[in-house]
Amino acid sequence: MQPGSRRRPSAASRTLAGAIVAATLVIGGASGLTVMQMRRSAWEQVGRVSQNLLESVEHMVDRNIELYDLSLQGVVDGLHDPEIDGIAPALRQAVLFDRSATAKGLGAILALDAQGQAFADSTAIVPRRLRFPDADFFRTHKEREDVGLYIGKPLRMTPGGRWVIPLSRRLAYADGAFAGVVVGTIDIGYFNALFSRLSLGDRTRIAFFRESGELLVRSPMMEEAIGKDLTAAPHFRRFFEHRAGRFVATGYTEAVEGLFSYSRIGTHPLVATVVVPTQAIADLWWPRALVIAVLVSFLCAGMIGLTLVLQRELERRTRAEERALAANRDLARLAQTDGLTGLTNRRHFDETFARMHEDSARTGGRLSLVLLDADRFKRYNDTYGHLAGDEVLRAVARVLQRQVRAPAETACRIGGEEFAVLLPGSSGPAAVARAERIRRAVARLQIPHVGNEGGFVTVSLGVAEVGGGETGGQVFSAADAALYEAKRQGRDRVVLRPGREAGARVA
Ligand code: GH3
Ligand code: MG
Ligand code: MG
Repeated sequence: MQPGSRRRPSAASRTLAGAIVAATLVIGGASGLTVMQMRRSAWEQVGRVSQNLLESVEHMVDRNIELYDLSLQGVVDGLHDPEIDGIAPALRQAVLFDRSATAKGLGAILALDAQGQAFADSTAIVPRRLRFPDADFFRTHKEREDVGLYIGKPLRMTPGGRWVIPLSRRLAYADGAFAGVVVGTIDIGYFNALFSRLSLGDRTRIAFFRESGELLVRSPMMEEAIGKDLTAAPHFRRFFEHRAGRFVATGYTEAVEGLFSYSRIGTHPLVATVVVPTQAIADLWWPRALVIAVLVSFLCAGMIGLTLVLQRELERRTRAEERALAANRDLARLAQTDGLTGLTNRRHFDETFARMHEDSARTGGRLSLVLLDADRFKRYNDTYGHLAGDEVLRAVARVLQRQVRAPAETACRIGGEEFAVLLPGSSGPAAVARAERIRRAVARLQIPHVGNEGGFVTVSLGVAEVGGGETGGQVFSAADAALYEAKRQGRDRVVLRPGREAGARVA
């Protein structure tokens, strides 16, 4: 490895990293789903609670209005009774208003004549001098016959006094002409007291308003909001999309985003709302989600940290293994290399020859063995010295390296001044030709050798082709015998194993 170059992570290390990334993603995804589920169930829970509250509010308001209406109708019926005119004022007052005493929270009931002047009063035998010719309820009844029960805009009875909601019914002559109005008031504080008995969180808001937009009741009580026109609110029209429903919007009396649940109240032109701030809903799930997020983050960070440590350890081991393997390879190569010439040694020759011999026996492929021996080498050493002799051995080795075609063919130093060449795929005669080329290549070096016949370094070679079911040892002996024959015939020559025709294969 070059210093500074980046090493590719090992397969094990990549697998580990992949597994941990996958595990982190799975845990992260599962936690994300859990948190989303928590959020959804918080919203559903708030939705259900709001729905229940809304039903209670609708029921309370409807029931109260119904009771008040019964009282008003009692007065209207009484006034339409022809006998009422004739009776004494105290009795008349008792007869007219007897039913009004049954309804809680109901203020005074007045009967107004066609000019808006009070002529009967539930609180006094002699009616108070009260006039409402300009009140919206009075004008509405005057203009229209078919209104029935009319729920008016909120009123203040006295300046700075209590807020009330006027409920009114029309009085008519026998011919249907406008005769006046019976009006009763409900104290807005009465509804606030009713709603405060519902168990709300301190952030939930309950209200109801007229379809024409005037806010009637807002709980907790907010005086400045009463009578306010809600038609300006951007979400106002959404209250009329369905009879009841739910949406998220920013409040009008408070600029806070919230979940609005709304419903029409009975058959009245009134809409009730329950608003829970979005933040209050978030507070139901967010703290738990935060705990999960923190725990999961710690878990994932721990897993990633552990993985990095493991990865580093894995890398360290892999590198150590690689170094050990490389060292083993070097050792193995050294164990098979001849130190003087760099050719492979006798041990490698034995193994390679055994393997090639086996392959040839199995596949029927040709294989020839060439043995080479330097001529009169003892004399060379004696004349030129052992070191010079070593140099000659190296020169012969270089010739062999050039002549063999690696990696199929192989040349080895098998002993002192003896070499072997294994030629798979070569017949005897072909091997003789190759041996001849080697011999000539050595001769061409023209290394002086006064002790040798020609005056230069030469080699003798013996060749044997494998075949006929001979063992490796037998083939080696045959090549050795051929080498001996070459020496005997005068050296510096190639001899094919005795008793074999060139190219002949033993049957
Ligand atoms: P022949 O032609 O019959 O082969 O004669 P020869 O002298 O070569 O044969 P012999 O076997 O008598 O001698 C071999 C000589 O090779 C003996 C030894 O001095 C020499 N020799 C063996 N190994 C080495 C070596 O590693 N270096 C050197 N310089 N000489 C070696
Ligand atoms: Mg020898
Ligand atoms: Mg020799």
